[in-house]
Amino acid sequence: MSIVDKYLRRINRLRISVTDLCNLRCVYCRPESGLDLAQHKDILTYEEIVAVVRHAVKLGIKSFRLTGGEPLFRKNIEYLLRMLGNVHGIEDLAITTNGIFLKDYARVLKEIGLFRLNISLDSLEDSKFERITRGGKLRDVMDGIEEVLRLGFKNTKINIVAMKGINDDEFEEFAKLTLERDLEVRFIEYMAMNKDRLDSEDKYIPMAEIIDIVGKRNDLIALPPPMLGSGAAKIYKIRGAMGILGFVSAVSQPFCNSCNRLRLTSDGKLRSCLLSGGEVDLKTILRNNPTEERLTDAFLRAAHLKPPVHSGKGHVVMHEVGG
Ligand code: SAM
Repeated sequence: MSIVDKYLRRINRLRISVTDLCNLRCVYCRPESGLDLAQHKDILTYEEIVAVVRHAVKLGIKSFRLTGGEPLFRKNIEYLLRMLGNVHGIEDLAITTNGIFLKDYARVLKEIGLFRLNISLDSLEDSKFERITRGGKLRDVMDGIEEVLRLGFKNTKINIVAMKGINDDEFEEFAKLTLERDLEVRFIEYMAMNKDRLDSEDKYIPMAEIIDIVGKRNDLIALPPPMLGSGAAKIYKIRGAMGILGFVSAVSQPFCNSCNRLRLTSDGKLRSCLLSGGEVDLKTILRNNPTEERLTDAFLRAAHLKPPVHSGKGHVVMHEVGG
């Protein structure tokens, strides 16, 4: 069986937020204090997450990404990782992490057969990194990156949220990480989703400008997108570099027409879109007579709710849905 939405997009990916908790409080993602977080009883258990994944596989969803909050911050995450590593039929299992605990988990991720990692990294300067993340240590992330490279992970992406006046002076340096490392350094357009926050729309830099800045002193060559997980990124390479560069334009050129994913929030909502569209309460089904028919119906309803394009300005709380 496979799921096709109203606009003939085939749904074959599920992004799973395993927790809304995070060890960091990045300025563009969370307020400094006062978050309304879910209670533990409302967060899906590991067994429930695995039940959803098993059912999704039956529906033709074979690609999964764990996110959060910070997925490696949830207690006993190794237990979930090992269970997922044993689910038959998964073709692509990935994680998005801030990398702080990566050094400790890289080996487990390798053992369970994780395919790919996305690591968020918004500055290469210790003090700026600490300011952006409100307390994170850059060294931890860099050690984590070196460890995953040492273990031979392929297609590792370093995600940089591009912010005017904050890290645009480092774009060229970020790009140079690819010179001798097998990494994809990816620049992501900043999404200003909640105007009350410290971050505001004046931080936004459109993709074309990001490419100009990166290419100022780097000799860039445009490449066709690679097959696996390339999503909607525009791909370049610095001439002679080992790794590649990706540029993601979720704001200036939304790629909704090729969107093939649903999202599972940590409190068990099956969401049709990051920014808009509706959601289906999967947790209630999981906790009350979760028959195959009812689970399938929930996935079909969520797919049906996918909008043709996102409205661009939803009030999204990244820590709930996962970026
Ligand atoms: N804790 C993990 C991490 O840091 O990667 C996973 C969760 S985080 C919400 C997932 C992604 O969302 C990160 O790559 C982060 O940079 C991105 N993100 C969060 N807020 C964003 C914003 N306002 N604009 C663009 N990307 C954002």
